[in-house]
Amino acid sequence: MYKLSGIILFLMFTLLEVFLKGMRRFFNRKSFVILGLLTGFTISFTPLAIAKDLDLTIVYDNNTYNEKLETRWGFSCLVEGLEKTILFDVGGEGLVLLRNMEKLKIDPKKVDVVILSHIHYDHIGGLSDFLRENPLVTVYMPKSLPQSVKDKVKDAGAKLVEVHSSIEICKNAYSTGELGAWIKEESLIIKTSKGMVIITGCAHPGVVNIVEKAKEMLKSGVSPVRKKAPPELSNEVYLVLGGFHLCWMNAWQVERIVNGVKKEKVERVAPCHCSGDLARKLFEKAYGRDFILIGCGKKIRIKDAF
Ligand SMILES: [Zn+2]
Ligand SMILES: [Zn+2]
Repeated sequence: MYKLSGIILFLMFTLLEVFLKGMRRFFNRKSFVILGLLTGFTISFTPLAIAKDLDLTIVYDNNTYNEKLETRWGFSCLVEGLEKTILFDVGGEGLVLLRNMEKLKIDPKKVDVVILSHIHYDHIGGLSDFLRENPLVTVYMPKSLPQSVKDKVKDAGAKLVEVHSSIEICKNAYSTGELGAWIKEESLIIKTSKGMVIITGCAHPGVVNIVEKAKEMLKSGVSPVRKKAPPELSNEVYLVLGGFHLCWMNAWQVERIVNGVKKEKVERVAPCHCSGDLARKLFEKAYGRDFILIGCGKKIRIKDAF
């Protein structure tokens, strides 16, 4: 038995020596060193270059989180970590938005894209004040918004994109396009390694409908430019954040929505703005640790999102 193992080991070493001698014929010592360095460099730096976090900061909301910030009825969320820095909605009062940004040490000039979800004042009221600080942005808004809002963008010298159907905003970020029959609203979809992140303004078309539409969109390919979605595109929903518009509903009605969201396999929820305290309580009960309590100043970091 030992003799046999010895013979096998001897044969293995002989083969290894023959292999290395062969390799040496093709590569000299210098190329071995270069190859080693290149491999080491790639292994050390590739993960750092690829992994990027997604940061979501609530800069305007009627729910208190950071007591140093001002709360008003409305919503605005800053999205960082994508190719472009996005400000989703601008709240009702521009000066409050800008003061909150200043306290959070967010320079308005670093925003590349502004998305307006829908016509209500508490989401678009801060537009002119914001554009005065930074007119070098592209503003995406529902096509159905009045000309007066579109003129504000043009007069400030910013770029206007009128959104009707779903559209790609930048890599990994999409607008659902105008949804809803009564109040037209667009939501933001961000594709991350953990699944989709959906940000809603007021969710007037219904939060469950928005989730369904987002899933459908990413399955079939979102923009006219990209007819077919790449196969790796995940349509699992990791997080839905924003106004869910449930503040006028009773417990029975809210429960139905909570169950609907659960049925869509939404992993985590962060309702704020017009969601209402009752809905926040019932979502917390249903989601436990996957419920995120948010309000003005809350920052959510999604690690290694891209
Ligand atoms: Zn609204
Ligand atoms: Zn609202």
